[in-house]
Amino acid sequence: MEACFTAFDKDEDQAININEFTALCKALFRNEKGKPYKMDSQQISDLFMIFNVSGDGSMSKQEFVYCWNGWIKKIVRPVSAIIVVDVQNDFISGSLAIKNCQAGHQGEDVLEPINRMLDTVPFDKHFYSLDWHPANHISFVDNVHMRKLAPESSKTNPNDCQTYDVVVFEGPPKVTQALWPAHCVQESWGAELHPDLKVHPQGKQVYKGSNPEVDSYSAFFDNNKISKTVLEEMIRKEGCTDLYVCGIATDVCVASTAFHAIELGFRTILVEDASRGIKLDDIQKAFERIRTEHGLVCNSNEVKAMVQGRDRRPELGVKLAHECRKSIIYPLKNKNSKYNPVQNGDVNANQNGV
Ligand SMILES: [Zn+2]
Repeated sequence: MEACFTAFDKDEDQAININEFTALCKALFRNEKGKPYKMDSQQISDLFMIFNVSGDGSMSKQEFVYCWNGWIKKIVRPVSAIIVVDVQNDFISGSLAIKNCQAGHQGEDVLEPINRMLDTVPFDKHFYSLDWHPANHISFVDNVHMRKLAPESSKTNPNDCQTYDVVVFEGPPKVTQALWPAHCVQESWGAELHPDLKVHPQGKQVYKGSNPEVDSYSAFFDNNKISKTVLEEMIRKEGCTDLYVCGIATDVCVASTAFHAIELGFRTILVEDASRGIKLDDIQKAFERIRTEHGLVCNSNEVKAMVQGRDRRPELGVKLAHECRKSIIYPLKNKNSKYNPVQNGDVNANQNGV
C-alpha cells in the first residue's frame, strides 16, 4: 500500500490528485499486451470522486487506504470461486426436470460449459450446492395438506392446489410458497449430482433446503433469511473476492444465489450459457437485476480471461467501485474524525459507520 501510494504521489504532497489517480488507473487497467484500456476522463473522475469522499479534489492517505483495501487490492489480486448450483438428477431428468417448464430449457445443456470451465479455468475455489429436502418439505405439492393455508392465500383448500401454484401458509411464521413436485429428497437418486458433472477434488458441497418448514432457493440463505448455510463462511475464510455462479435454475436458485452474493459484497458474475432456467421472462428479469446491482452476466468463453484478470477488468473494476460507494465510511467526510481505516482494515468493517 505504502509503495503504491508513494509511487503515484508524484508531487510528494501526501495526497493523490486527479492526475496522479489517472496514472494509477492506466497502470491498473491494461489489456493482455500491457496497453492501457481506454477510459475517458469523466469515467476516471467519477471513480476518483467515489474515493475522494471529502470531495476536496485530493485523496488523502486515509482515503487512499480505503481505496487500496476495498478496490485496488481486489482488482490486482482477485480470488475467484465457481459456485455450481443444483446440477442434480431431479432437475435434469427426474421429477422436476426443467425441460417440462415454460422456457423449455434442457438441464443437461449446463454440463458441457460447466465441465469445460472446471477443466480450463484456474478458479481458486469450487463450490457445489445441493437442494436437499426432507420428505415432509413445505415446497412439495403433495404435502400441501400438512400445513394450514392462510385466508389470504390464492387457494385455501388444499384439494384445489396444483403444481406451480403460489400459496400462503399460515405458519407461524407466515410463508409464501411455490408448490413443486417432490424433488431432491435427501439420500435419493434425484438429489445426487448429475453423474456427468465434474466434481473438483477439492470442491466443497453445500446443502440447502433441509429445514422442512422453509424453502431455500439461494445457496447462502433460506427464503425467509432465518438461517444461513455454511457457504458465506467458507468463501470468506478462503478470501474469495469474485464469485462465478451457474447451474439450475437460472431464474430461481442461480439468481437467488447471485443476488445474495452481490448483497454480501462479492463481485458477482452469472455465467449465462452455463445456466438453464424455468421461465423466459423471469430469466431476463434476473439478468437485468444483476446488471443493475453492479453484477455481470457473461458467457463461459469469457471466464478464463476474467479469472486471470486479463479481460473486462475495467468493467469489473468500475462495478466494484460502485459497490465501494455503497459501503463507504462517511466519517471519512470529516477529515478530523477520529476514525482510522488502517485499524479497521477491510471495507466490510466500515458498514456500521454509514
Ligand atoms: Zn427445492
